[in-house]
Amino acid sequence: FTDVRYGVRRLAFSTVTKEDLKFLESLLPDRAVTDPDLLEASNVDWLRTVRGRSQLLLRPRNTEEVSQILRYCNDRNLAVNPQGGNTGLVGGSVPVFDEIIISTAQMNSIIDFNPNSGVLICQSGCILENLNGYLEAQDFIMPLDLGAKGSCHIGGNLATNAGGLRLLRYGSLHGTVLGLEAVLADGTVLNCLAPLRKDNTGYDLKQLFIGAEGTLGIITAVSILCPRKPRSVNLALLGKKGGNMKVFIKNCLRGCDRFDQILSIFNQCKGMLGEILSAFEFLDQSCREVVQEHLKLANPLQEKPFYILVETSGSNANHDQEKLNQFLEEVMTSGLVAEGTVATEERKIKALWGLREGITEALSHDGYIYKYDISLPLEKIYDIVVDMRERLGDKAKRVVGYGHIGDGNLHLNIVSPAHDHQLLAAIEPYVYEWTAKYSGSISAEHGLGFKKKDFIYYSKSKEAVQIMQQMKLMLDPKGILNPYKTLPSPSQNSASS
Ligand code: FAD
Repeated sequence: FTDVRYGVRRLAFSTVTKEDLKFLESLLPDRAVTDPDLLEASNVDWLRTVRGRSQLLLRPRNTEEVSQILRYCNDRNLAVNPQGGNTGLVGGSVPVFDEIIISTAQMNSIIDFNPNSGVLICQSGCILENLNGYLEAQDFIMPLDLGAKGSCHIGGNLATNAGGLRLLRYGSLHGTVLGLEAVLADGTVLNCLAPLRKDNTGYDLKQLFIGAEGTLGIITAVSILCPRKPRSVNLALLGKKGGNMKVFIKNCLRGCDRFDQILSIFNQCKGMLGEILSAFEFLDQSCREVVQEHLKLANPLQEKPFYILVETSGSNANHDQEKLNQFLEEVMTSGLVAEGTVATEERKIKALWGLREGITEALSHDGYIYKYDISLPLEKIYDIVVDMRERLGDKAKRVVGYGHIGDGNLHLNIVSPAHDHQLLAAIEPYVYEWTAKYSGSISAEHGLGFKKKDFIYYSKSKEAVQIMQQMKLMLDPKGILNPYKTLPSPSQNSASS
């Protein structure tokens, strides 16, 4: 049948029978959930904009169980939906129809950590924040950090190729992930877990699964290269051992439209802070308002159109402090920055990061969100926000822009009191056309999932999509792994940007 909510037709998968349930319950005693109340949270995405109707949630504990589940589902032609922390923002983590949800929540063991190499090996259901806590105790950190860290799983991070707040410094997961283990649709266990920095023996298969959003296999284990925890030797001065220096600077733009001055600061920042620069984030005044309104987080600075968050992480506090002071002096005297506050204490650092990290949550309390996560050339990155505000006028409750300037990644969010077809028609495909015009990416870090899959041609050529479809067919011939996600619907196949 066709789901009228989404206009998507259910593919010809089997439905779960009593015999299926009996087998899966015997495989996972007490871990095959059918209680609708317990299933509710797994059927709805974090944004509460996509809802599935799955009647079965499986909670395997190890790779062998995942393998047996998939072998069975593949034989029976039952569709499955891999799920980590369910914090994904493109509707990829929840079923569309009645797909069986396979959760990694109980696959949360750390397998090994080697302090000499800095390589952590763990199961894919480990929560990012827990991994970071484990590593911090050994003077290391995870190479990625994001607002959803308290819930998202490392397997989900890999499956979405999550970017986040540390990408500027440590690079993407395509570089820091050294190996992974994945179970293919037919139950085959693909072991590419070897934690080698160098290994040029044939194709680098692990890369296929990073960013594949659960459409090519279920990631069951990960080996990842972790950096040392940055130290601040400037302890006495900063009053904080082992912390980072962070500065929250208010940018005085003397007018709402001088976003280009943020770019001047960024360029100066790169030149003057160099290797200790670890994050360069921005948010606009509308973000600040929404965070204040819904999370009651006060802004320590006066109101201005834009705010920048700069983080430095280094190993020598005197050196870092000197660089930071020089940078601040320069941007203050040149008039690019009017006001700032520096936090060196853990509590204050957290509070300042909270203003940036809280935006996604605050927006979720503000109404229905149309979320766009785009890469653009830096000079163009804020123009789309200004343009959208003009285009939508009173039709939108709020149009906000924030993101990872250091990575050329803008989060454009448009809020309305409820889902509004007319508003959506005014936003899409305009936002994608705009992005494609400047050779940007319509999904910088969230993936395509269910919501954006049909817009893939705005960022990828027909030939590239064709190869993706062939790869999907080869690894998952029956298409049971996360159907209706990532790759375009057959009706979109001839479309082209
Ligand atoms: P889920 O949401 O459960 O799943 C995401 C996708 O991965 C789905 O398609 C699912 O099928 C698949 N999947 C999950 N686990 C596996 C597995 N083991 N094997 C194969 N496929 C799997 N994202 C960023 O990139 N940068 C950010 O800064 C960022 N900030 C965020 C802040 C907030 C407050 C929130 C709510 C989200 C944010 N996100 C961000 C998006 C989201 O957190 C990331 O995409 C995250 O990596 C998803 O992990 P998860 O475990 O929740 O995966």
